[in-house]
Amino acid sequence: MKNRVGEETEYLKVLRHAYTEDRRTYWVCECKSCGEEFKVRGHDIKVRKTCGCIRATDWAAMKAKKDSQVTGSSLLRSAWI
Ligand SMILES: [Zn+2]
Repeated sequence: MKNRVGEETEYLKVLRHAYTEDRRTYWVCECKSCGEEFKVRGHDIKVRKTCGCIRATDWAAMKAKKDSQVTGSSLLRSAWI
């Protein structure tokens, strides 16, 4: 298991290991948008944006802003879960 504690993205920070199930490791992360803790699969840390606190409408606005700053946004498009 790769230790991801301390890893940080623009949207979240990995606080501690949550549990491992079916060879998938879950981590407790802090949502930078609201400060809430939530669990994320290790594989999803890089692509997860919030704990779910940001409404879809707000998210669409944020994403539109981001897309205008980034060329080749296929990564962003596939990132939303
Ligand atoms: Zn949140």
